[in-house]
Amino acid sequence: MFEYAPAPESRDVVDIKSSYGLFIGGEFADGTGTSLKTINPASEEVLAEVAVASADDVDRAVRAAREAFGTWSAMPGSERAKYLFRIARIIQERARELAVLETLDNGKPIRESRDVDLPLVAAHFFYYAGWADKLGYAGYGPDPRPLGVAGQVIPWNFPLLMLAWKIAPALAAGNTVVLKPAETTPLSALLFAEICRQADLPPGVVNIVTGAGETGAALVNHPDVNKVAFTGSTEVGRLIARSVAGSDKKVTLELGGKAANIVFDDAALDQAVEGIVNGIFFNQGHVCCAGSRLLVQESIATELLDALKRRLGTLRLGDPLDKNTDIGAINSAAQLAKIRELSDLGEAEGAERWSPVCPLPDKGFWFPPTIFTGVAQSHRIAREEVFGPVLSVLTFRTPAEAVEKANNTPFGLSAGVWTEKGSRILWMADRLRAGVVWANTFNKFDPTSPFGGYKESGYGREGGRHGLEAYLDV
Ligand code: NAD
Repeated sequence: MFEYAPAPESRDVVDIKSSYGLFIGGEFADGTGTSLKTINPASEEVLAEVAVASADDVDRAVRAAREAFGTWSAMPGSERAKYLFRIARIIQERARELAVLETLDNGKPIRESRDVDLPLVAAHFFYYAGWADKLGYAGYGPDPRPLGVAGQVIPWNFPLLMLAWKIAPALAAGNTVVLKPAETTPLSALLFAEICRQADLPPGVVNIVTGAGETGAALVNHPDVNKVAFTGSTEVGRLIARSVAGSDKKVTLELGGKAANIVFDDAALDQAVEGIVNGIFFNQGHVCCAGSRLLVQESIATELLDALKRRLGTLRLGDPLDKNTDIGAINSAAQLAKIRELSDLGEAEGAERWSPVCPLPDKGFWFPPTIFTGVAQSHRIAREEVFGPVLSVLTFRTPAEAVEKANNTPFGLSAGVWTEKGSRILWMADRLRAGVVWANTFNKFDPTSPFGGYKESGYGREGGRHGLEAYLDV
């Protein structure tokens, strides 16, 4: 690891209250349930106490959203657009504050929350603001119908970005929402609630209920919720799909992944190494579409792995508020335990484990960047989502073998292909069972393009025009 001078971002730019209530009908109100503590995973310091919304609280939030729906859905799209543009601009103005809060609550490096998450969050609101007044021209008929009240449940890995993916299209299409952030990262959603007030968004259009799985279950099962949008684990996605089966709710599920990042022998190797590092170590690997399986053509495997290991030796792990940090903290003790368990199992199953020399801070939850070689397709480390900075390396000889191995997974969210041959990229993209296939890049996101999975990675699309249609009766 490098010796370097820390350049910390100031945490004073954000004012964190000691306790937070729920955001219902445009007001912050106490919950009737218990509370939970949200902590900084880099220091284990308690950041704030947050309400756990009871079923009654969820009911109040859904009623507030229902009450607001009539006016919001009847409002001309050009008016709704103004609110969304205003929210987007306030997000830009308060980006530094939001980025610091996100980093404190989540553990991700400030460079990522500042340069990736926040610009994309604003971009989603700008993009869907642009749709709000064009629905009538877009082939949806003169009077396109929103679905009603959307119940939205999101995970902890991109708290504010997942909120933007959910809330921006829902509001643009004329729906009102009740959103539940993850229990370990509720703070940026609560600051977003404050931004809704600052933007004078009519009360009840956006409601935020904090809490854990029970709160989420109360929301998705509420009889007056018309649309359920969930991002999270395949396990919980399955529970939700079962629990709403037979109801008239529309459902989209964005679930887990086990993406293959496939490197051919003609790839630009330096570029591929950067793409592999970005693919699996960005956001500590807490990314649904993380390139967690490296498939490398056998003839270049040794050369590529040597270069990759050298690059890993230059990554800086530590204080997420330090602008030089590449790898931040693991979001929770539970997630760290899961990463450790699967990694230990990788070794027990016979794969070889490697990490660069990487001192870990005493306090907080940390895991070094880790590579497993000698991985067989049957190993659990090659099949299950680790959701951490852990890369499994497999080899292949022919393009057909690469496709076979890449598709040999229950998931189908994303894949990457590294080659200088354009025709091979198209050949591979045709055959890879993945919602997105990146060519000579990885983890590139854009609000204009739809995102979503095949197989156990879920159904429905978010982003682009398809993401809007998920909130309309087309
Ligand atoms: P999780 O499924 O444990 O939790 C996600 C959310 O669901 C949380 O808000 C949680 O409180 C809530 N929840 C838990 N039980 C519930 C229930 N029974 N009913 C309703 N809500 C419930 O997932 P996580 O650990 O927070 O997130 C990691 C997972 O999310 C990974 O599997 C990752 O791949 C996936 N993910 C997918 C995408 C995508 O776009 N496909 C994006 C980000 C994350």
